[in-house]
Amino acid sequence: MVSLSWKHHTLIQALISRGPLKEREFYSIFTGVTGRNPGTVKKHFDKYLLEINKELSYVHFELKACRDQYDGQVCYGVVNNVSDDQSKLGTKYSVPQIAFFKGIIEAIAQDEAAQGCISGFDALNIRLENQISSEASSSQQQVPAAFKNFSMSQKEKTLDELVRDKWLCRTREGNIGLGIRSLLDLRSWFRNSAVPPCEVCNEAGVKADVCPSEGCAVRIHKYCLKQLLSQRDDKRCSGCGKQWPLGKVTKAEAVEEAMNDEEENETQATGPKSKRRRQHRSHEDPTENSASQASLASTSGANARRVTRSTAHLR
Ligand SMILES: [Zn+2]
Ligand SMILES: [Zn+2]
Repeated sequence: MVSLSWKHHTLIQALISRGPLKEREFYSIFTGVTGRNPGTVKKHFDKYLLEINKELSYVHFELKACRDQYDGQVCYGVVNNVSDDQSKLGTKYSVPQIAFFKGIIEAIAQDEAAQGCISGFDALNIRLENQISSEASSSQQQVPAAFKNFSMSQKEKTLDELVRDKWLCRTREGNIGLGIRSLLDLRSWFRNSAVPPCEVCNEAGVKADVCPSEGCAVRIHKYCLKQLLSQRDDKRCSGCGKQWPLGKVTKAEAVEEAMNDEEENETQATGPKSKRRRQHRSHEDPTENSASQASLASTSGANARRVTRSTAHLR
């Protein structure tokens, strides 16, 4: 790890110790550490991430970005690329706790309406025994005592811990949804468990709008739909060819939000210089971000900046 400076280490440390961070928080740490703003010097930012990822790859870790499907915001985190649930949840959680967690994410992933959540009641009623039958080898059909004795209060306590560690989240309505750590870290799991992808960004459509046509399973994230509408007038479903229902989203609203977002980023990023940056931004070629897109496979650098804060208000 000789090639990394203290600045690289500080960035890694911030993501590991504080968990996945919203883009805004990570940008502000980056600016604090390097003295440069990722909003203005994207190439500089991408270079740092590439250097970090080169070193992290030796220990099967990766600095990744993905969107929080509940509010559409981009988040950054360091993830463990060893595809083993036990190692992902580390030594912190017990075997029954991990089984409980898996039961919850399975229930969320299997929801055909793609609401991205289950009620607290349903979560607490997840049966750990079901996790055994699907996984145990034929030699071990018995339910371990630790599973049988896993009480309601232990489940409640585990839910709180998983929410605190960002494996799960509580939605505005008080339901249990996926935390940003799960969205970052369990990508391949969602792929393998056949959660239909969003037709725009190709990420698992865990919390997404589903095409209302009968028999059509196409999904689109609300924030992806908005982004699309800020650039064109309507959207046809690729599955059934029918016009995609826009719901509360209107063209004018989508455009306005895209603009608000640009302004917000700029004000936050450079203050008085924002005018100059806007000019720069409009000429920016999305392909120049290809390096970071490669390293941050789960998001698009160009799209990342179009996140709208206000999407959260519509949920
Ligand atoms: Zn999408
Ligand atoms: Zn359709």
